[in-house]
Amino acid sequence: MKSADRELILDVMAGSAAVLAFVAFIVLTQLYHGHHGLQVETVGPTLYLLISWLVMAYLRWIGSRKIWRAAQVWMWVSLIVGLAVRYSGLLMHLKGLAITAVWSGLLFSFGLWASFKSSPSIWSGLRRIVAFLPALIVVSPVVAGYWLDAPIVWLSTDSIQQKHRTATIVLLLDEMNSKSALGLQNVLEKEGLSVNFKAVQAVHGLTVEAVPAIFSRKKFSGASPCGLDRICAADVALDFSQVSVERDDVDVVGFFHPYCAMQGLRSCQRITMTHDFWDLDRWKCTAKIYPGMTKEQGYKSCEERLNSSTVELREKVNAAMLDAPALKSGGVLYAHLPLPHPPSEGTGTLQDQYLRNVQKAEALLGQLIAKLRENNIEPRFLIYSDHPLRQALWCSTSSVYFDVPCVVKPDLVDDHVPLIVAARSDLPSIAHVQSNQQVFDVLREWLNH
Ligand SMILES: [Zn+2]
Repeated sequence: MKSADRELILDVMAGSAAVLAFVAFIVLTQLYHGHHGLQVETVGPTLYLLISWLVMAYLRWIGSRKIWRAAQVWMWVSLIVGLAVRYSGLLMHLKGLAITAVWSGLLFSFGLWASFKSSPSIWSGLRRIVAFLPALIVVSPVVAGYWLDAPIVWLSTDSIQQKHRTATIVLLLDEMNSKSALGLQNVLEKEGLSVNFKAVQAVHGLTVEAVPAIFSRKKFSGASPCGLDRICAADVALDFSQVSVERDDVDVVGFFHPYCAMQGLRSCQRITMTHDFWDLDRWKCTAKIYPGMTKEQGYKSCEERLNSSTVELREKVNAAMLDAPALKSGGVLYAHLPLPHPPSEGTGTLQDQYLRNVQKAEALLGQLIAKLRENNIEPRFLIYSDHPLRQALWCSTSSVYFDVPCVVKPDLVDDHVPLIVAARSDLPSIAHVQSNQQVFDVLREWLNH
């Protein structure tokens, strides 16, 4: 092989490695969250690679003299494509459009300079960096997570035989303010249960951080998936397949985290969200109501349309919860519900949609109680949330779902989440609880008391 051809192949391999490494991280995240279907973040770069390989092969075949230079430029463009797919959203969210554009511009200019002006020895060094660094960035947390995770016994053996058939229902109501919990308490009191309520701090602001932090009692700031069932932050990891229960009556219903990897569960339903890539209406709607663009006729129907996958997910999770064995024969049910998490069915402002979902959560709790009564099961409830309503985040990143202008309403600003326990008698003490990271301590004490 001519040495120029060897250079060409190395450049193409380095550029491809950069794209694939960054896309691999997105594929891992999708697998962790159980998302199915083709996504633009993975299909786009794959098409980009296939088409550019074909173009490059064609140029080489017709003997174009520019092919080696083209491969060098292509390698840098590929690195930028990979970086953009992986980090542009994050950089944009943290630093804004101007900084993101400046960074991309600098990297691109440096690539042009390196392609046309740098010496062969500098170029071969740059090529190595492009080929190995992205792969290292993607692989290192996966390796670190493997060493960091440790087994956790979530719920230990049932030491007390329940005299009656009792169901202990643990409800994680996603994104609920402490100030929005009065309706839930009324539903429980109407059933004749004693209720204790406390507004507690939220350990983190995002579901992806809060849930592993609550399971492990460690901090998970900036958490992201580092395995199919494993989530990692800087120096901690939680592997759901290493979380176990010793009781034989635990049911789990949830979404977003790979709950069903847990060991020893009696039953488990993890519902996942499916975006249909080929659904052209969805794309048209996204383009039509992109933030900053004029809202046209048909905006309302588009808003409803984009909300429909969340609504569908929610209905499936709710149905799975109402079907859990614990509601028929007692035991423990942990249900992580996408309620009152916006968006809601229909249209409206962020706040309208949130409040509608709060009412939905109350109605669902009523249904749950009715089901337990019907099956003659004694109810006990532990209700909490992972984080309060994130108005600023929703308005800045997803205003497409809501009526505009999307603004932060002061009366729905809250930095606490609710903790509710309810039963006919023997409520656990929650006076000492400061943060939602302690809720499983309350649960364990209650179960083994
Ligand atoms: Zn959440």
